[in-house]
Amino acid sequence: MSLDSSTIEPVPASIRLSARFQHWVRSTRSFCIWQGLWESRRRQAWIFEGMTVTDWRNLAGCLADFLTARRVVRGWPLVIKIDTTPLCNLHCSVCIHAEPRGNPILARQHFHASQRMSVARFQQIVDEIRGRVHALTLHFLGDPLMHPELDTLCRIASCAGINTHISTNFSFHMEHRRIKDLLTSGLTHLSVCIDGLTQSVYDRTRSGGKIDRVLDNLRTACQVRRELHLRHPHIEVQYLLFNHNSHELPRARRLCHNLGVDQFTVLPGNPYNYSDAEPENFEVVNARRPGWLPMCFWPFFTMLIKYNGDVIPCCEHRSASQYTTNHDACRVLGNVFDSSVWAVWNSHAYQQVRSTVSNPLAASTQPGHHTNFCSACQRLFDLRRLRWAGTYADSIPPPSAQSSTPRADHPPAPCPPLAEHANPSACCEKPRHSLARGGIP
Ligand code: SF4
Ligand code: SF4
Repeated sequence: MSLDSSTIEPVPASIRLSARFQHWVRSTRSFCIWQGLWESRRRQAWIFEGMTVTDWRNLAGCLADFLTARRVVRGWPLVIKIDTTPLCNLHCSVCIHAEPRGNPILARQHFHASQRMSVARFQQIVDEIRGRVHALTLHFLGDPLMHPELDTLCRIASCAGINTHISTNFSFHMEHRRIKDLLTSGLTHLSVCIDGLTQSVYDRTRSGGKIDRVLDNLRTACQVRRELHLRHPHIEVQYLLFNHNSHELPRARRLCHNLGVDQFTVLPGNPYNYSDAEPENFEVVNARRPGWLPMCFWPFFTMLIKYNGDVIPCCEHRSASQYTTNHDACRVLGNVFDSSVWAVWNSHAYQQVRSTVSNPLAASTQPGHHTNFCSACQRLFDLRRLRWAGTYADSIPPPSAQSSTPRADHPPAPCPPLAEHANPSACCEKPRHSLARGGIP
């Protein structure tokens, strides 16, 4: 079933243009350097605060590995992203959690309450990287607050001297105690996503969310931090800008300033879905000529560990494949629980990825290139689009079509209060059957 076109409000041309412009910029060579610098500046407290001499030496090692395009690196990742759980309570239009609406890639997504990293396994990772890696992100394609022991994970990392960052939609019914536990857990950076101030504007892209809850939680978080004189977490609000929410931006900025938020970041909104960037929607025209630097920084500075220990090099490519039933499409580079973080970081698969980003032209002539994680990545290859996977390329459903009308075959399941559920992930076990269809927290 797809949306009736009469209920669809077209995305304004300015947004379509800006998204195509973004796509082009992301594929340019210097983008990876600018992106790395911009992200480091935006989250400098999380990445740099409390760095020891060993951490600075490791950063220098990562830089040297990147500048010399080494296959076998000497430095540990500067940052590790840990996907504590891929579950989420919302169905944002950009995300793999969006309702399929005829999109076959989204129909293949598979979520289950058991998809969560246990505290013991998290501890195992921290024990290995302690004193070597300085910053962790605790989310990937889910909301970290869906993990009932998130504050314990932050506390473990903090005790090991590791900075932590989470990004959340904050649209949960949260008791004061849970917010306090989170704020006093040693969490370094908290990003909260707000894409509007009124419910009708907010839930056009944050489908299923409640802006009142988000603002209440944000107010409580700022208040708790003030009352307890906490230095951390640094609280950032992220506003994804679309035409439909631009009129609420000044008011949102003022409100956040009055609440005591430290940082208000405006990012261009993406009217497309992650699944539109899947390699199966493209044909590779040719590999790009190498420059004097590797064309991507990810395999030299960061690593992404999924909830089950599987590792992929970045969160920009094949993201809509990671939780599908097609396990071959994940292209994982190893598993940290089968070996170790260091063994995977310098494994043959990781070395192949580093060769590919350093010289995609040469790598594309090697046997087995097509099974490489980075094959068909827009940073390394010129691509021709074959199809759009999502309906969101041309439309953002208006509020009436998106969230308020219950659908017989996929009724909206209200997320029970997190603090109250016995099984906090149960509300995310979305049936992915007859309908086939996508922040960014
Ligand atoms: S973008 Fe974030 S908040 Fe929205 S559905 Fe995806 S994981 Fe959840
Ligand atoms: S797929 Fe490879 S080249 Fe593309 S962003 Fe990820 S790590 Fe970089």
